[in-house]
Amino acid sequence: MTYFMFICNKCNKSVGPRISPINVVVEKKMINHKHRSNANPCRVDGVRDATDDPGGMGYQIVREAKYCSRCASVD
Ligand SMILES: [Zn+2]
Repeated sequence: MTYFMFICNKCNKSVGPRISPINVVVEKKMINHKHRSNANPCRVDGVRDATDDPGGMGYQIVREAKYCSRCASVD
């Protein structure tokens, strides 16, 4: 068992020990993922094959913060 402590990024209070921080996404951005050919390996009738990843628009996490359970439940 770990006995770590952490400081909440919202209320700046020391939390713990034996309480895990909750990672909250505080900043994200929309990016365009590129098409990738043969990106997903698979087997079709026992023969190795690969399917394409079509790509497309999706979110990417820019910044995460460690919150205590009280601050995480307010958001
Ligand atoms: Zn907090």
